[in-house]
Amino acid sequence: MAAGCSAVKEASYWVAEGGRARCTLCPHGCLVADGRAGTCRVRRAEGGKLYAWGYGRVSSAHLDPVEKKPLHHFFPGRMIFSVGGWGCNFRCSFCQNWIISQQAPGAPAALSPEDIVSAASSDDSVGVAYTYNEPLVGFEFVRDCSALARRKGLKNVLVTNGYICPEPAAELLPLVDALNIDVKSMRESFYSTHCGGTIRPVLDFCVQAKAAGCHVEITNLVIPGLNDSDEEASSLAGWISSTLGPSTPLHLSAYHPQYEMNAPPTPPAVLERRRLRCLESLGHVYVGNVASPGGANTVCLKCGGTLVRRRGYAVDASGLNGGRCRACGSDSGIVVS
Ligand code: SF4
Repeated sequence: MAAGCSAVKEASYWVAEGGRARCTLCPHGCLVADGRAGTCRVRRAEGGKLYAWGYGRVSSAHLDPVEKKPLHHFFPGRMIFSVGGWGCNFRCSFCQNWIISQQAPGAPAALSPEDIVSAASSDDSVGVAYTYNEPLVGFEFVRDCSALARRKGLKNVLVTNGYICPEPAAELLPLVDALNIDVKSMRESFYSTHCGGTIRPVLDFCVQAKAAGCHVEITNLVIPGLNDSDEEASSLAGWISSTLGPSTPLHLSAYHPQYEMNAPPTPPAVLERRRLRCLESLGHVYVGNVASPGGANTVCLKCGGTLVRRRGYAVDASGLNGGRCRACGSDSGIVVS
């Protein structure tokens, strides 16, 4: 892609406060002095104003399987043009993408929304996924790309930690078709100790996204000794079931040593045990980041037939007829158009 955008964008969602800029995009509410950036490293103050410093600065762009986001109930087997920027408003010690999430923008030239949408249109892509780093800290670019992609008939997908204030979320969500939201734990102490954030805004964002009519799937990275107890599994699955609905897909993802954490990877047996516990409350619980025979397949909740068979990123959706189970004809809830 050729770079097509050099403008420095003033940020949305900030107020002047005593000669500095108070960012109101996410719950951190950083008060940013001139020449400095907020916690996310990509929203920067100059001359008493706040700027979206990472606007259009893309760290990576790939055509990925939708399953890789992960989304299992949204266009199974299709590809999606996936872009990432820089920065994050969390500081997870186990971050699996820390090289881009824990850095200020490193790309020298900026791309425009037209560049992104044009690249997505020319591939066999269902749309654009904003992923790899935390997309919400690049709010303005994601919003502008999403608006253009929507006009071109493309879908928009967010892969996010869900840490955003309700007002900007309300502006963005009508442009978004599907989200995978990371719920890292059901304990406040986990978010404060390991992520540098708080849990309530994340859960509230999940509810807001669902209420906005978006397709929502949840990911939970399972880290041995930190968030892998049976109690936490039941608490997470119970909350998803009662708040977002029992057919909401949950992805249990294996942790691998990264960034500041060198504990051993999550054993597959831990994920399988957690999966069984979560299946007591939820219909669709998947295991990811490890080989798990059958653990990635989608099963009809009515007749038990296999709707979608997955082996790695090889996907066989022949159990579906449109969005319905080919065997019993019931609505699978899987988005296919
Ligand atoms: S988006 Fe960034 S600058 Fe704004 S409040 Fe959150 S961490 Fe701070």
